[in-house]
Amino acid sequence: MNTIRRLLIANRGEIACRVIASCKRLGIESVAVFSDADRNAQHVRKADLAVYIGASAASESYLNAQSILDAARKIKADAIHPGYGFLSESTELITLCQQNDIIFVGPSVASIADMGSKIEAKAIAQALEIPTVPGYNGADQNSDVLFSESEKIGYPLLIKASAGGGGKGMRIVNAAAEFTEALALAKQESLSAFGDDRVLLEKYLVRPRHIEVQVLGDSHGNVVHLFDRECSIQRNYQKVIEEAPVSHLGMDLRQKLFDCAVRLGKHLSYLGAGTVEFIVDADTQDAYFLEMNTRLQVEHPTTELVTGVDLVECQIRVAQGEALSFTQEQLTVSGHAIEARLNAEDPANNYMPETGVIELYREPTGEGLRIDSGVAQGSEISPFYDSMVAKVIAFGETRGLATRRLLTGLNNFSIGGFKTNQEFLIGLITRPAFHQELTTQYIAKQFPEGWQPWGEVMHMAIAAAAKAEEGQFDAASPQQGNPWQRMGSWRLTEPSGTPASSWFCIEHAGELIELAVTGCHGKYEVTIKQEDDTDNETFHVLIARPQAKLESSYWQVEINNTRCTLDILFSNNQVSLSSPRLNRSYDFISLEESQLGPAAALKDSSAAIRAVMPGVVTDVLVKAGDKIVEGDTALVMEAMKLIHNLPAPCSGVVKEVLCAAGDSVADGALLIEFEPEE
Ligand code: ADP
Ligand code: ADP
Ligand code: MG
Repeated sequence: MNTIRRLLIANRGEIACRVIASCKRLGIESVAVFSDADRNAQHVRKADLAVYIGASAASESYLNAQSILDAARKIKADAIHPGYGFLSESTELITLCQQNDIIFVGPSVASIADMGSKIEAKAIAQALEIPTVPGYNGADQNSDVLFSESEKIGYPLLIKASAGGGGKGMRIVNAAAEFTEALALAKQESLSAFGDDRVLLEKYLVRPRHIEVQVLGDSHGNVVHLFDRECSIQRNYQKVIEEAPVSHLGMDLRQKLFDCAVRLGKHLSYLGAGTVEFIVDADTQDAYFLEMNTRLQVEHPTTELVTGVDLVECQIRVAQGEALSFTQEQLTVSGHAIEARLNAEDPANNYMPETGVIELYREPTGEGLRIDSGVAQGSEISPFYDSMVAKVIAFGETRGLATRRLLTGLNNFSIGGFKTNQEFLIGLITRPAFHQELTTQYIAKQFPEGWQPWGEVMHMAIAAAAKAEEGQFDAASPQQGNPWQRMGSWRLTEPSGTPASSWFCIEHAGELIELAVTGCHGKYEVTIKQEDDTDNETFHVLIARPQAKLESSYWQVEINNTRCTLDILFSNNQVSLSSPRLNRSYDFISLEESQLGPAAALKDSSAAIRAVMPGVVTDVLVKAGDKIVEGDTALVMEAMKLIHNLPAPCSGVVKEVLCAAGDSVADGALLIEFEPEE
């Protein structure tokens, strides 16, 4: 036994906070690490100690194994927990730990190396007679060999990066003619993201379910499973909603998957927590091994809620040499748990990640609700890391009850200052289809035209009325400075000097929306202007600011005879509306800008693609002279650990490509110019 007394957590955000919570319970001192951007982050505040490890870019801090090791040595930590992502599947950090007598809370170098390459992992699974997706995972990477193998597999097929993860480095090939180009792109993407361009080929299943099995192993030869999870609701091969246990799947098949997972774990002499992922063809019920993740997973809380096991505690205990405190027979599942990932992103605008300060933050509480988060009011969502803000996890005796509690939790989560996928998540779990068979096509099937929030113009009208009301309030208090500056609006003034109407401009999904507001003292008429003035829509808004002395920021609003209570926040030129079920942020453009700056830029952007935020160009799918149809993907960017497919804004011809795969680009940088069709 090697008792852990001081544990360094080589991670940030919610997972760092999650590990700190288990440390507290076990009486272990926790040590956070932080980059420049995270100096005031929650994980730093919650830990007993914290060490600075470098600049904001992950490569300089959370991905720098040597910095992490130096921090651990400096603070005399006896163990390192890697969390998920970052260095959790890096053999480099484990090797450094071994050389310095520091316990790595995770599996051995050999397990990570064996499972880290999908080619190798599949070969091991095949040797253990675990079914794998039909395909090719040979060592020969010659393009001709790959092509002839793909002809044998048939189409559609998937080219996967052997070193891939997080849904990256995958490409569908629908026909032989697409193969060569897709292969080149997959290899290039994989090389730049993972430094390894080996690929494998798999038959592409059209209606698969993602089913995975949680395993735990100790250093005494015990490996158990903690049942299964379903993570079929995905977007871009990334999980959005996850649940435990799996429903609508025969017990025989489930038992077979448990057995396969344990067999693989035993073969690896697996130490700690791991997940064996499978896909199940919803039409044939054929199940295939996909990969093994040799770490804790984002969705681990669902398993914790239905088994009563603290997985982080188990990881720590087995890392210090203890045997698992339960046998397979002692483990049971009771009830149902569902998790939703709340992200800073705009689902109505191609899920573009959002950054900014969390101006308003109130987590919901309630029976059967668990929130795992790493932020608080005032925290900043920076462009350096992923966009996950919190996980809402609900437990109930039945799946129906867990769903209702999750809905309550999502409804009552107040978050403001930027857009989130809160309403989208609510939309996902309130569809009748959520109670039928789930496949990875769920989101595409439910929202074939993309997801759009309800009542968008009505909420814009409320935001404009609130801004007008706030402007008048500011004007009334002398210390606030020049009210006209703060208004961000034009005013037409009647001869008497009283304002007749104000004009506002909202930038929404790449378009400028003009709003005319008339009225004062809490009573307004807001007209949303259409380009040709024919379909102008007018709203009557009564609005009352919160009582100054009260702590809450609730506004009373009545719009077209319907009353509601809203949290309304103003920051710079943004107005955020928040209430149960609602989370909207609108960017108002100041007058001068709407005539000169962003408006001009927006106009110009109708024939160009610009970087959506600082990030890296991973793929350029077009070249100068190509013909392109509006909406077709022209470029792929990675920002905040997510892949963004940027579509052509118009049909026409590619005029100029100003970037190449691998380029780091600044926010707003011009990437591709188009010559629109007449
Ligand atoms: P998991 O399998 O743990 O649920 P994913 O498969 O979604 O996680 O992603 C794989 C890896 O990519 C994880 O290690 C995770 O850290 C990282 N990742 C991807 N997207 C996110 C996200 N939104 N938030 C946090 N980590 C993410
Ligand atoms: P990653 O390492 O990025 O998590 P996985 O191999 O686990 O890669 O696949 C991620 C997701 O991609 C799966 O959950 C599934 O939705 C989809 N996927 C993977 N392989 C296939 C396949 N052969 N056919 C259809 N979908 C697949
Ligand atoms: Mg996976």
